[in-house]
Amino acid sequence: MKILVLNCGSSSLKYQVIDMDTRNPIAKGLVERIGLQGSVLTHRTASGAKEVFKTEIKNHTKAIELVIKQLVAPEYGALKDLNEIHAVGHRVVHGGEKFSKSVVINASVMEALKDCIELAPLHNPPNIAGIKACQRMMPGIPQVAVFDTAFHQTMRPLSYIYGLPYEYYEKYGIRKYGFHGTSHKYVSQRAAVLLKKPLSELKLISCHLGNGASIAAIRGGKSMETSMGFTPLDGLMMGTRSGALDPAIVTYIMCREQFSVDQMNDFLNNKCGALGVSGISSDFRDIEVAAEQGSHRAQLALDIFEHDVRQFIGSYAAVMGGVDALIFTAGVGENAPGMRAGICKNMDFLGINLDLEKNQVRGEEVDVSKTNSRCRVLVIPTNEELMIALDTLELTK
Ligand code: ADP
Repeated sequence: MKILVLNCGSSSLKYQVIDMDTRNPIAKGLVERIGLQGSVLTHRTASGAKEVFKTEIKNHTKAIELVIKQLVAPEYGALKDLNEIHAVGHRVVHGGEKFSKSVVINASVMEALKDCIELAPLHNPPNIAGIKACQRMMPGIPQVAVFDTAFHQTMRPLSYIYGLPYEYYEKYGIRKYGFHGTSHKYVSQRAAVLLKKPLSELKLISCHLGNGASIAAIRGGKSMETSMGFTPLDGLMMGTRSGALDPAIVTYIMCREQFSVDQMNDFLNNKCGALGVSGISSDFRDIEVAAEQGSHRAQLALDIFEHDVRQFIGSYAAVMGGVDALIFTAGVGENAPGMRAGICKNMDFLGINLDLEKNQVRGEEVDVSKTNSRCRVLVIPTNEELMIALDTLELTK
């Protein structure tokens, strides 16, 4: 059984075909610069061979047409026929309060997705464009939507209501939604397998530390708290995003810099975070190098990030009344032993005891805590595509 997984951004499209018997991708690729000059499709086969196509790609329909062409190409295609695709799973960023789990897409789901555009004006329109293009190109093949927000719909009102007039929640849907849900769900399920315990009995803190970063408190398999909020700008300081701020800073900077609403939005999302503090890069590898070479601003950026993560761990352990395992995932979480060591330092009071030798791992699924550590520390590479494929299969079996 083969599932096509699609992740459509405003000018990009990532795809994978996953063989559900082995759970491995048999083809994957990326279309970049959709609707811009210099569009390019990079396709990889199961053996890792790379094919690059530079051609005009005006919109998502054209992009999907090209992807399908690669998938069935006689020389290296992963499929003989498109009908080998059992179903398509689409990553959808925002499902608002309407979707607490993945759904098979029909006309009423499409209407509900359109209603969520207001909440994610940059993300949901390309997601919808990808779904429509697939409906046109692959009639009869079921399409499933898997939401970044769905996993966090188990949060309680005391966690998701902000200190604003309640009518703003009712009128505009302003509340904490949380993101990276597919990743937090995947790694929490893997943690239960690694720990050989039922998920229903575990208190987990999942740290998805990538360019975008968020932390979730997961009790009994359900998200209780998460650091991102109404949008993915909230919580930890990130690569280019500010993370949580005193809200008064927003209007203050707008006045001082004469920023419009759009300029302020762009500033907070793209020019702040580790990039803004370090003045060097948003990439933690570059920042680590600069810090080693003596840049105090680069060191400060690393220190702030580490401190932010530690604060969330402490607070989420308090909310859950303890923690059985701490999970590190995504680019920094999976690949930066130094950052993991800094985060776990002096956390004996929570039963966290990192094994510094085991911790030297990158991108592998490993328990990196000492044998006597009461709280386990796990490195678990995330696999959002597989999670989307599993949900898609489950709903279309
Ligand atoms: P996203 O999916 O949010 O774009 P990723 O999960 O791919 O992000 O993470 C990207 C981040 O991971 C980058 O900041 C990158 O520097 C960091 N990263 C990747 N490898 C390493 C490494 N070996 N050491 C430190 N940071 C790393």
